[in-house]
Amino acid sequence: MTPEDDGLLELRAALAGEVIGPADHEYDTARVCFNALVDRRPAGIARCLGPSDVATAFDFARTHKLEVAVRGGGHNPAGHCLLDGGLVIDLSHMRAVEVDADARTARAEGGSTWLDFDSATQAFGLVTPGGVVGSTGVCGLTLGGGIGHLTAQYGLTCDNLVGAELVTPDGSVIRASSEENPELLWGLRGGGGNFGVATLLEFRLERLDRVVGGLLHFRGSAVADNLRRFRDLAASSPPHLSCQAIISVDESLTPALLVAPCYTGSSQDPEELRGLRSWTGVVADTVRTQTFLEQQLVFDSPYGENRHYWKGHFVRELTDELIDELLDRLLAFGRPPVHILIESLHGAPKSADPAFGPLAYRKAACNVSAMAVWANAGDDEQHIAWARNTAAAIEPWSLGGGYANYMQADEPLERVRAAFGDDAFKRLQALKRRYDPSNVLRRNQNIPPGETRQ
Ligand SMILES: Cc1cc2nc3c(=O)[nH]c(=O)nc-3n(C[C@H](O)[C@H](O)[C@H](O)COP(=O)(O)OP(=O)(O)OC[C@H]3O[C@@H](n4cnc5c(N)ncnc54)[C@H](O)[C@@H]3O)c2cc1C
Repeated sequence: MTPEDDGLLELRAALAGEVIGPADHEYDTARVCFNALVDRRPAGIARCLGPSDVATAFDFARTHKLEVAVRGGGHNPAGHCLLDGGLVIDLSHMRAVEVDADARTARAEGGSTWLDFDSATQAFGLVTPGGVVGSTGVCGLTLGGGIGHLTAQYGLTCDNLVGAELVTPDGSVIRASSEENPELLWGLRGGGGNFGVATLLEFRLERLDRVVGGLLHFRGSAVADNLRRFRDLAASSPPHLSCQAIISVDESLTPALLVAPCYTGSSQDPEELRGLRSWTGVVADTVRTQTFLEQQLVFDSPYGENRHYWKGHFVRELTDELIDELLDRLLAFGRPPVHILIESLHGAPKSADPAFGPLAYRKAACNVSAMAVWANAGDDEQHIAWARNTAAAIEPWSLGGGYANYMQADEPLERVRAAFGDDAFKRLQALKRRYDPSNVLRRNQNIPPGETRQ
């Protein structure tokens, strides 16, 4: 037995959940995260079963001077849920979601995924706007904002957060709601996993059962014009239509556009979607009336198989020039598979009270992200360079700051600060000083407790 494993015996005895160390046969699967670019070897993985396990894990890490990482769904492209040599506070066995249909609220445990959440809430015909891939963590996504198929209708995911139970690094269990620690609740609506481990998050729910949604694929020379139409559609859309777009090129460098609409109005054959479906260049159309759970399956992505590097900007406007630039950037790579994701922020994010949370980017027209996804380690440099250069090409249209949920670990602090603006960032720092003054929780899009101007 290695000295590391010997050390874990003490944690094994104290934790209700299991503890996985390097000598355990499960170790290599337990340390897989969504992004295969991230390959780290923690000293131990503490699979917590509740707040007291989380407090025990913090205590163990402090006593043994181990750095900690927090794991929810393991999706963060930066791989913040894993570290070399430290302790992972793994919430993947805390996935219960409890729905109060009368109060229209749901309480999700710290490691629950969107599939867990949507399955539980849809059993009552209820919903909150979440992520578009079922295996993404509810808490990780919410704490960083949250953009998905219902953003225009109900706002960012964090706009629907009404309460939380948190374990802070000193082991205290604290609650946040509009009555109790309201400033902390404000900070949790976008300020990330900086203040504690959320063992429960509570959400407001809306009534929703069926949507008109699916995917529309366009291919060929009409893609540039269709992207302009997509922009105009999003800008003029009523808040009952959310839409996202992905552009790419195929082997022959022919451009392709994928549009994912999600309509929740009263029509079975909405005029907005009729127009969209008649654009030239359609090669596949799966748009239909379907359950919200079916809509949540239109995007899927294999877990832990591909290498990912994402970088982007919130843009003021999707101008004609920017659209041309984006298509040029796809051609510049010269082959698939590289993508650019365009998430429209029209509708509810704009009408939310800005004082509700710290995020500044709700003013943007769209979130535009270069997404390099590849399989071979030998191609790392090329793909990472493409994503960085593409983000640099988008930057002239940027509002400043990026989307914390898509950031890699190499983003400078200034990009994190700009996502909030100076005043909100200072308020977040004050919260950090109160709840995590030693910056134990620094494996995230970090809000350092102290002075930071670079
Ligand atoms: C395939 C894919 C699809 C995605 N789709 C969307 C989408 O539709 N919309 C969107 O907005 N984003 C999306 N994202 C981004 C996603 O929201 C972020 O990467 C988010 O951080 C993932 O949370 P996680 O719990 O799965 O990740 P993890 O890697 O487990 O956690 C990331 C970080 O979140 C924090 N965290 C997680 N759980 C807790 C907790 N319980 N308490 C405190 N801190 C916690 C920690 O700081 C942790 O380091 C997607 C990412 C991927 C890879």
